[in-house]
Amino acid sequence: MALLRKVFEENYTLDENGQCEPVKVRGSGVIQTPHEPQAQYCVKGQGKARQSWVGYKVQVAESIGEEGSANFLTSIVTQEATGSDDAGLPATLHKQKGMGLEAPSELYVDGAYISAEALARAEKENRELLGPAQPSAHKENVFGAEGFDVKVEQRRAFCPAGKESTQCSRLVEKQSGKVSYRFEWSWQCHGCQWREKCVGTNQRHRTLVVGQYHTLLQKRRREQNTPLFVERMKIRNGIEGTQSELVRAHGLRRARYRGKAKVDLQNQFIGAACNIKRWLRWLARQIKGKAPENSPPRGCGGLELAFCG
Ligand code: SF4
Repeated sequence: MALLRKVFEENYTLDENGQCEPVKVRGSGVIQTPHEPQAQYCVKGQGKARQSWVGYKVQVAESIGEEGSANFLTSIVTQEATGSDDAGLPATLHKQKGMGLEAPSELYVDGAYISAEALARAEKENRELLGPAQPSAHKENVFGAEGFDVKVEQRRAFCPAGKESTQCSRLVEKQSGKVSYRFEWSWQCHGCQWREKCVGTNQRHRTLVVGQYHTLLQKRRREQNTPLFVERMKIRNGIEGTQSELVRAHGLRRARYRGKAKVDLQNQFIGAACNIKRWLRWLARQIKGKAPENSPPRGCGGLELAFCG
């Protein structure tokens, strides 16, 4: 009964006359049907990139070997549709560890997996996490964090005009314990030629709040446009073909069963089928003398993928 009430409240509203109306805009996490409460409605992206679906989300990772060697799927993790990619990355590594696989020394991902915290985790675990960082959130035509040179460890920051901050405060979020730093510029902003592009109309001077691992994020934002980084990231393109293969040839986007546990089992079978097919192809090429000995993988590519329930 409680479930039916929840489904009703999430999908319908009652107007002042007591008439039932379907809700016009549904948010992420809404249950679509009481027959499959774990399959959620989810929305991702904005504008033309907006995607919506009902079901789950899947994190797929595959090995990256030397040119010409066969790549195999190393893990498939089924998440709730509203699960974050941030959580999907450690879940993928945890699953691989549970299967006895060595942690990849290089991990190629898209921008959704890159955050200051993820980069710090990778550095601590002595592996490379390669992917472009998202731009900082800021108003159009206003200097965002990218315009500043921040040295969190030294508690120093330089603004686009090259002026050093006058104050740095350490902030700790009560609930999460998350640490950030607020840098302030005061007298330097008076009469500065960049003031219009830098200081909000209701502000007297400029402040900038960054997380404790901002230095890593700043480094990534700078290096991601270099030819070397762009070249290295081409390796990740292979996973796009894998995604297409899993969807088109193996039906990954169509769940045949109800419930996350069964859907996950289906996904594991799909992954195994794909690996067997790749292994047989590689074997056939080797018999014909066209494939090199398979070298140990040196990295791992990852992505997220949505599918219907
Ligand atoms: S307005 Fe202030 S913080 Fe911004 S560039 Fe000028 S001096 Fe630096």
